[in-house]
Amino acid sequence: MSVNDVLVAGAGPTGLAIAAALSETGLRVTGLSAAAPAKPWQNTYGVWLDELPAPELHATLGHRWSNVVVHAGQRTIALDREYGLFDNQRLQQYLLDRCERHGVVWRTGVAAAVEHRESHSLVHTRDGREFAARLVVDASGHSPSLLRRPAAPQVARQAAYGIVGEFSAPPVNLGQMVLMDYRTDHLTPEQQRESPTFLYAMDFGDGRFFVEETSLAHVPGVPLSTLEQRLRRRLEARGVAVRQVLHIERCLFPMNNPLPYLDQLVMGFGGAASMVHPPSGYMVGGALRRAADVAQAIAQALGAAGATPLSAARAGWQALWSPARRRRRQLYLFGLASLMRCDSLTIQSFFESFFSLPRPEWTGYLSDTLSTAELARTMLRLFVRVPGHVRRTLIAAAGAEHALLRRAAFGQA
Ligand SMILES: Cc1cc2nc3c(=O)[nH]c(=O)nc-3n(C[C@H](O)[C@H](O)[C@H](O)COP(=O)(O)OP(=O)(O)OC[C@H]3O[C@@H](n4cnc5c(N)ncnc54)[C@H](O)[C@@H]3O)c2cc1C
Repeated sequence: MSVNDVLVAGAGPTGLAIAAALSETGLRVTGLSAAAPAKPWQNTYGVWLDELPAPELHATLGHRWSNVVVHAGQRTIALDREYGLFDNQRLQQYLLDRCERHGVVWRTGVAAAVEHRESHSLVHTRDGREFAARLVVDASGHSPSLLRRPAAPQVARQAAYGIVGEFSAPPVNLGQMVLMDYRTDHLTPEQQRESPTFLYAMDFGDGRFFVEETSLAHVPGVPLSTLEQRLRRRLEARGVAVRQVLHIERCLFPMNNPLPYLDQLVMGFGGAASMVHPPSGYMVGGALRRAADVAQAIAQALGAAGATPLSAARAGWQALWSPARRRRRQLYLFGLASLMRCDSLTIQSFFESFFSLPRPEWTGYLSDTLSTAELARTMLRLFVRVPGHVRRTLIAAAGAEHALLRRAAFGQA
């Protein structure tokens, strides 16, 4: 049996991104995917344009907006940051082309188990085939097939129900992208006390719009039927009727999965490696950005004398989840836990203050590009700026989540 350098399991956006980056270092890469790697992705992927790590990625966007706003409380805040939606087919083709140029061979099959020898690992597929590689990278999504992570009974989920369609009147201003509309005047007082949800919406041009009712994070996930009802009610209150449904998006994914064990012999990437950014749920931009560094670290480790799956996986984990990034993650998890304690009024005041922070701070917070000290300063500044009722919620969160803060302060992951 031939032994390749790396086997990547999964061909979602993160599997393709890491396979492409690994192959570009000169490593011989096999991709193993449950579905054909060119099978269309169903999710709608949004990204901040300044997160794209290469100029040519701009050509993979289907839509982009410079008119981006947040509605919170009485205010409409213009964000001065460009936002885009990928054209999935273009992004997929772009990544597959890079893979093809550097010799990635794709196999279709479901990775079911892995066993390790001294110098390589063997992946067994559900239909009884075996693939050998010096390192296995699991990019099979949020419930990975090969990676191990600690059990977590209380995982918060982002949930959303969205419609791409045509409407009797524009649901948002023409040419506009609404990152969050937390206004609740269309809800009954009783509904306003339930877990807050917001509208994420955009004008696609040519008479089509995308409107999505989203719960940022909740344990367990807010039911999609509730989100659908809220979306319809929101539209109705604005006198907007759905004329034609072109696509329905049903979204549910974990926001705060624990990190996988970092001493295991399999490396992970994407949802499998808990890379979802806890305060926002975004991951694709970050995965595209981080793939090259992780791939370099793995290539270097595999190039060293006496390399083993363990040494290569360690190098990959270290590049992906350095101690500093793990500390920041604790702060972000604390931020998420605080948001989950907010009622509708509190969360609107929170975001009013958040998006009024200096631009480098809120953008860095959302893209995870701040240093640990900068992140801590940003959070402190926000704490000082928010109104009293929000501050009381944050203090209560700090009391309840002191373990997260301690881990951030003392550097335990
Ligand atoms: C509806 C929705 C909308 C989202 N919108 C955004 C957004 O706007 N921006 C953003 O950044 N993030 C978004 N996310 C979050 C996150 O980026 C996505 O969940 C993303 O698809 C995760 O990418 P992934 O490659 O890790 O996993 P997946 O996209 O789930 O891909 C997993 C791949 O692994 C394959 N696979 C699974 N099991 C096996 C196995 N055993 N063996 C081999 N192959 C296997 C699958 O066939 C698939 O190819 C969204 C998520 C959802 C659900």
